[in-house]
Amino acid sequence: MTRPRILVVGAGFAGVACVRRLERRLTSREAQISLLSPFSYQLYLPLLPQVAAGVLTPQSVALSLRRSERHRTRIIPGGAVGVDAKAKVCVVRTITGEHTVEPYDHLVLAPGSVTRTFDIPGLGEHARGMKTLAEAVYIRDHVIAQLDLADASQDEAERAARLQFVVVGGGYAGTETAACLQRLTHNAIKRYPRLDPKLIKWHLVDIAPALMPELGEKLGRAALDILRRRGIEVSLGVSVASVDADNVTLTDGRVLPSRTLIWTAGVAASPLIGTLGAETHRGRLVVGADMVVPGLDGVHALGDAAAVPDLAKKEDGAICPPTAQHAQRQGRQVADNLVATLRGEQTYPYVHKDLGLVVDLGGKDGVSKPLGVELHGMPAQAVARAYHWAALRTNVAKARVMTNWLLNAVAGDDFVRTGFLASKSGTLADFEYTEAYLTPEQVRKHIASLRTTHG
Ligand SMILES: Cc1cc2nc3c(=O)[nH]c(=O)nc-3n(C[C@H](O)[C@H](O)[C@H](O)COP(=O)(O)OP(=O)(O)OC[C@H]3O[C@@H](n4cnc5c(N)ncnc54)[C@H](O)[C@@H]3O)c2cc1C
Repeated sequence: MTRPRILVVGAGFAGVACVRRLERRLTSREAQISLLSPFSYQLYLPLLPQVAAGVLTPQSVALSLRRSERHRTRIIPGGAVGVDAKAKVCVVRTITGEHTVEPYDHLVLAPGSVTRTFDIPGLGEHARGMKTLAEAVYIRDHVIAQLDLADASQDEAERAARLQFVVVGGGYAGTETAACLQRLTHNAIKRYPRLDPKLIKWHLVDIAPALMPELGEKLGRAALDILRRRGIEVSLGVSVASVDADNVTLTDGRVLPSRTLIWTAGVAASPLIGTLGAETHRGRLVVGADMVVPGLDGVHALGDAAAVPDLAKKEDGAICPPTAQHAQRQGRQVADNLVATLRGEQTYPYVHKDLGLVVDLGGKDGVSKPLGVELHGMPAQAVARAYHWAALRTNVAKARVMTNWLLNAVAGDDFVRTGFLASKSGTLADFEYTEAYLTPEQVRKHIASLRTTHG
């Protein structure tokens, strides 16, 4: 008898939690498990701003998918660029750029999200994201390069422009990014005695009237005070009107001469979701509370890519926010439901009461709301670090992160610019592969052409 094929798309919080649970609960005779992932690691995204700031090395937040021999899942190195749910086939773009197909009996869609963009002139060419490991490493090098170039320049206007940085997005990702990178430049400038530290300017911009509204008014204001005390100019109720190679123009008319626009204005579900032609809610795939996609046989979706009903909230129609906290737990629940389905047992809906949010602002600063308790300053930062440290999946990652934190506290940063990604354009499309996806028609055509070729 052939074993049912379970194909998990995406090795993030949701996908890896699902695969590990399946490996633990199913014998190899019960199912064949495959994991489709462009990278051989699971990225611990919440610590990405600290990679950009040089507090952590990239390897310490990239958790290997092949750490243990107990991990028997077949790993396919590539990304899904389309799904034909009728034919039960996924179109895969391998890491060598070829297109192949992967048939499945049960599909778990966990491709996460990409940086959300808007139709703003120049954004596609000049904005940089903070969503992948490559982006964090690229931004670190880019910021250090601005210091190097400003130091070497004799032109005052160029110096000022290179030392002015703009971050868009007052959610936790943007706030942490601005705070951590401001500390990087604040500490690095001491190594550039020819540069006037007063020239360094950081701007945090958001169209919303408050920072991180999910933290509540009091903590949002505390975060604002911390950032302003550090000299970061926070502009609320404002967005970007246009951007070019030399300037960022804001919607309030200000023109900021700058070579750096970091764009963290929210996330949108992976473009893979659009290839299914199924119902979506604000771009996320509509699923039931058991994370089954209605009308598509054998398809589950979860994490940032899916609109999973939030049954722990009282209001009707509430959807789980796109957080790691939910994605990881949804991964485990989907695995349990798949095991139950294979064994003819009952499946269960996903229910999880949000544990709150922790925000590390670098140095001794933070704001956190664990289990509804409002904290700021050192206690908040300690809680943020303890939470992330405990949430790292492997002991080796825990050891790497702790060692990095200690080393950074004792020895600081050497602000080395590696130049590894210098030849990349660094655009969102470049690092987030948003242009690799097929349309539903292209998916069908591709599968049909393979059928003709292989008879
Ligand atoms: C800077 C930053 C800070 C954050 N801080 C927090 C925090 O403090 N707390 C919190 O709860 N959440 C935080 N988040 C959000 C959290 O990281 C996400 O909600 C979470 O990662 C979602 O999990 P996921 O499994 O859906 O997607 P991801 O973890 O993003 O995983 C998706 C995976 O799918 C892969 N993939 C993408 N496309 C394809 C494809 N076509 N085919 C195959 N594989 C694909 C990706 O490479 C990735 O490995 C933060 C996010 C960012 C960017």
